[in-house]
Amino acid sequence: AKSSGRGTYKLFDVAMHAQLQTHQQMKITMRDALAKGEFELHYQPLVSLESRCVSCCEALLRWRHPDRGMIAPSEFIPIAEETGLIVPIGEWILGEACRQAARWPERVSVAVNLSPVQFKHRNLVRAVAKALSATRLDPARLQLEITETVLLDESEHNLELLQDLRRLGVKIAMDDFGTGYSSLGYLRSFPFDKIKVDQAFVRDLPHGKESLAIVKAVAGLGQSLGMTTSVEGVETEDQLAVVDSEGFNEVQGYLFSRPLPAAEISKLIAAGSL
Ligand code: C2E
Ligand code: CA
Ligand code: CA
Ligand code: CA
Repeated sequence: AKSSGRGTYKLFDVAMHAQLQTHQQMKITMRDALAKGEFELHYQPLVSLESRCVSCCEALLRWRHPDRGMIAPSEFIPIAEETGLIVPIGEWILGEACRQAARWPERVSVAVNLSPVQFKHRNLVRAVAKALSATRLDPARLQLEITETVLLDESEHNLELLQDLRRLGVKIAMDDFGTGYSSLGYLRSFPFDKIKVDQAFVRDLPHGKESLAIVKAVAGLGQSLGMTTSVEGVETEDQLAVVDSEGFNEVQGYLFSRPLPAAEISKLIAAGSL
């Protein structure tokens, strides 16, 4: 047992070392990635359950790394947040997403994810205003998705920022609803325009009793608070049927479409109902 134990440690060491190295390397290569044009946005539609048409597309960041190919955001956004690079990258995302949305039909909005780190910087409101004015996008067609982490620390300050953003005319959505500790409480502190139920609650539908109860509750809550209700991660017809019968306004998920490059999403929007 002892010898195999040592072997295990060695392997662990090697793996740890490799991981640290990619982490370090990513930190370094990420500095130039923006200037080199290695980031791109893919877009995933949210489909209105009333019209079956695309009502909004969520911008999702991708990194086309010269050696490693396409890297998922879960792999590099935490590093971008740690280094603060998420601030310039986030400004680029805002500009790029608004630029694309300005070419879509007026009924289609764009949703942009904001990192809590972006709220620590004075110029967030200015960056959003700049993206809007540069592209002349109607502010009502820009939705900013935040998670409750934004309200967790420095909540006073961040609430003020949210109000400032709201004054620009944009919509504010609470993302990943239900995954945090106090999602419910935050609905009281800020009048969100939209709540997006996290895919964790959709996965075991239609049979999961707890998930079903939560999904039902959120639908009712959203309706009575006058918020648009949406659900992410819908992959099957059975899941769609539940969400539809509970009266949600819109759905997002692989059942309708995966995130697609800008050129392909434009075609999908033009094709009409899904
Ligand atoms: P999120 O905002 O909750 O985005 C939803 C994630 O679920 C996306 O993963 C999307 O591709 C995936 N997804 C959509 N439909 C389905 C489905 O039917 N089944 C399954 N299994 N997954 C589905 P993605 O693109 O890898 O993004 C992961 C997370 O990275 C996002 O979670 C968001 O927190 C963050 N992120 C992505 N783009 C940005 C960005 O531009 N800025 C910031 N700050 N964060 C971003
Ligand atoms: Ca999101
Ligand atoms: Ca989400
Ligand atoms: Ca999520």
